[in-house]
Amino acid sequence: MLDIKAQHEPIKDEIKTALKDILDSGRFILGQNVLSFEQEVASYHNVSEAVGLASGTDALYLSLRALDIKEGDEVITTPFTFIASAEAITYVGATPVFADIDRNTLNINPAKIEEKITPKTRAIVVVHLFGQPADMDEIMEIAEKRNLKVIEDSAQAFGATYKDAAVGGIGDAGCFSFYPSKNLGAYGDGGMMITNDPEISGKVKLLRNHGATGPYQHSFIGYNSRLDEIQAAILRIKLKHIDAYNRNRRNIAALYTSLLGGAVKCPVEMQDRTHVYHQYTIITPERSKIIKALKDNCISSVVYYPAPLHFQEAFKYLGYEAGDFPESEAAAREVLSIPIYPELDPEKAELIAEIILKALKN
Ligand SMILES: *Cc1c(COP(=O)(O)O)cnc(C)c1O
Repeated sequence: MLDIKAQHEPIKDEIKTALKDILDSGRFILGQNVLSFEQEVASYHNVSEAVGLASGTDALYLSLRALDIKEGDEVITTPFTFIASAEAITYVGATPVFADIDRNTLNINPAKIEEKITPKTRAIVVVHLFGQPADMDEIMEIAEKRNLKVIEDSAQAFGATYKDAAVGGIGDAGCFSFYPSKNLGAYGDGGMMITNDPEISGKVKLLRNHGATGPYQHSFIGYNSRLDEIQAAILRIKLKHIDAYNRNRRNIAALYTSLLGGAVKCPVEMQDRTHVYHQYTIITPERSKIIKALKDNCISSVVYYPAPLHFQEAFKYLGYEAGDFPESEAAAREVLSIPIYPELDPEKAELIAEIILKALKN
């Protein structure tokens, strides 16, 4: 699905030098690279605060904690996402409440959010799924009206924009993952939370380091979730290329859409937003034929996601039933993600499209 080595090749000397400097310095935790990377990501998103963390999941969890979401609270999110979006809600003791998606964008449907608001609702975790920004104006309006916090799970959407604003910087907190396969990928785990509220970032900074306000002084129970210097140094080098990486993804996506548009439902690009194609996900009732044809040609494809979260054993306790989220359930039956990454040769993309078209004719 992606070629991590191809991305490494052109920057490998720069990375080697950066790593050598860190090894020579002996400073591996919360040093200059993390600090600089935080400032660079904040500036990229036009926000005042950024906090480097150990993972995207931790960014979600610690944002929820910093926003004081806790047991007894309800947090609305989409059932059609990676499990971490909802897992983090349970870590603070709150209850995930699902609201169905819009079939067209696969993102949470603002009208369905409204239906799920109760006196216990405290926040919305919005996911910009596959790199497409969600309906932020509508969501922010609901949040303002009902006094809810908004956390943007931007793990799949680094660099995506909504009306010229980079996603992650629109809600109360934005969360990123630097898992190697993400649009901005580290060489290990990493994450970040961004915000314009210094109180939230201050809390997350304490939480990531055991609640320590000074040497061996702990004002509350924290956690260990620090981004390390080595990952930060690598990410600083890659950050310089993220817009070019995303442009390449968009070019490949445009090529796929031009070739496949008549045969399957291709990703829809909403106006006023830039989709950064973490995944290129087609929708078709005939995906098994396509999976097989691609596999016969040694090309991978993946179903993200084969089951919505309310079908997961882990969330059985929430008491949902089949039929509760028809759009998410339909999407799970028909989606298929095909290879997309910045270094994908357009000729290879054309070949992949050809194989898909041929499979559909058989
Ligand atoms: C990857 C991902 C996460 C979790 O990030 P990690 O860094 O793997 O913890 C959360 N939400 C979504 C939508 C993701 O794709």
